[in-house]
Amino acid sequence: MKNLNKQLVWLVALLLLVVALAITSAQLLVNEAYFLEIIVFACTLVTMGLIITLFAKTLGQIKAIRSLVYRDYLTGLPNRHLYEKLLDQTIARAHRHHINCAILFIDLDNFKQINDSLGHAMGDILIKQVAERFQPFLRKNDSLCRFGGDEFIIILEGLAQHDDATIVANRLLHCLELPFVANKNTLFTSASIGIVTFPSSTDSVSTLTQSADIAMYQAKAKGGNVAVVFTDKLRDDSVKKNQIHKEIREAMEKNHFYLSYQPRVSLPNKKITGIETLVRWDHKSLGLLYPDSFITIAEETGLIIGLGHWIFEHACEQLAAWNKLGFNEIQLAINFSAEQLIHSQLAQFIIKTITKYELNPKHIELEITETAALKNPEITERVLKELNNIGIKIFIDDFGIEYSSLRQLRQFPIQGLKIDKSFIRDVIDEPSDAEIVKSIIALGKGLNVEVIAEGVETQAQYDFLVAANCPQAQGFYISEPRSPEHITALLQRDCGDNIIPAKF
Ligand code: C2E
Ligand code: MG
Ligand code: MG
Repeated sequence: MKNLNKQLVWLVALLLLVVALAITSAQLLVNEAYFLEIIVFACTLVTMGLIITLFAKTLGQIKAIRSLVYRDYLTGLPNRHLYEKLLDQTIARAHRHHINCAILFIDLDNFKQINDSLGHAMGDILIKQVAERFQPFLRKNDSLCRFGGDEFIIILEGLAQHDDATIVANRLLHCLELPFVANKNTLFTSASIGIVTFPSSTDSVSTLTQSADIAMYQAKAKGGNVAVVFTDKLRDDSVKKNQIHKEIREAMEKNHFYLSYQPRVSLPNKKITGIETLVRWDHKSLGLLYPDSFITIAEETGLIIGLGHWIFEHACEQLAAWNKLGFNEIQLAINFSAEQLIHSQLAQFIIKTITKYELNPKHIELEITETAALKNPEITERVLKELNNIGIKIFIDDFGIEYSSLRQLRQFPIQGLKIDKSFIRDVIDEPSDAEIVKSIIALGKGLNVEVIAEGVETQAQYDFLVAANCPQAQGFYISEPRSPEHITALLQRDCGDNIIPAKF
């Protein structure tokens, strides 16, 4: 680009020189009709013609290169570079004239799936069609830009009020609801939209784009097909998330993670039937962290593989320790994420670890949620069958809250269902939840698998489950997650009138 500009300056200078020459020659020609001057004049005219052609060509090239640099090749929309220039100008106008503006960061929800299953050509067609569908919703001052991949950014300028950005975003979401047709394929898509409004005191291209991106990720975390407005709290959460991401590895090395164990019991005799492993993080500055604040981050960043190995290894070590104390029939449940299931080395790692600690595989239970199981059903099915064949049991965790099909779930070798605690929480006050719990108990019996009610907190819930013939229960009412020493003491305790009689 710089070279072309230089070339252009040279051409203009040359052109001026030639024009000057032509004028001088013409004057000479008029005054003294010399032959040489006629030749010079004619040559000058030809050179001028040549230079003008070259000039036009160079201008064309500049235009083409400008388009390559600033336009997206697929949609013709402003690309990331031009977006940054446009936003910079909009910020300046917004501040100078106090105009309400916003940017909408739009990311398609299922684009990777479409690309992977139908090919990149189909993905390209969808991107073009989405861009075309957005156009009618924009006004003269707005700019629709393609930020990259399946990401678009819209700069909205001159909003009557900031809330209007949400109205526009919802219209865009709405316009994606109708199917797209590409090469006789019918495609459905939705989007996650992050909104940031300005002017504000800290505006810059990078901070606004980053803020809209954070809001977009929040929209994704909500399940997509939704617009989220950026707030300072979102930024604080995001900073915390980044901090946690950086510290997971260090925490593993320094043994800042530890495991808590929560027993479950059979009903109505309250005999311990198994113990669930729950990971905790003794964070150096944030204090005790529960899995909800770091497991998702570990999953998103791939760190769950290392963390999952750490958890499994330490859980096996603890089970071996209990076995040594004579508690040989303990069932130990360990939670697994989808990312762990599709990791190619999982089965080998599990087999190697249980062999190392001389454990009986039938004493190990893997807990996976429906969502995790269905994230990559083919691989999950193969891995679960492999593990099941050596005796490891598979339980579906948080059963009932997802929209999975029972037929699909049945593909997996399942030995147990854990009824999600949200149903147990309202089982007394919500007749529909009570009916769902009863149905899952019946389903489990029909499928001949174990059924465990999770999150039992009160005597009333406990009594309901006993009356409904629920085979097993787990929850604070029975025992909170405890240290291994506490569990050992529980296992060693006499039956007496303890909440959990230790009858091993
Ligand atoms: P989960 O597997 O369904 O575990 C049960 C969660 O409910 C635990 O929360 C437990 O402390 C809590 N809980 C138990 N009884 C009650 C009760 O009576 N009332 C209420 N309100 N809660 C109860 P926690 O430990 O915070 O774990 C949350 C989730 O994090 C777990 O849900 C599991 O999905 C995941 N998780 C925990 N440990 C691991 C792990 O080692 N690996 C992986 N991948 N995920 C884990
Ligand atoms: Mg669980
Ligand atoms: Mg659960």
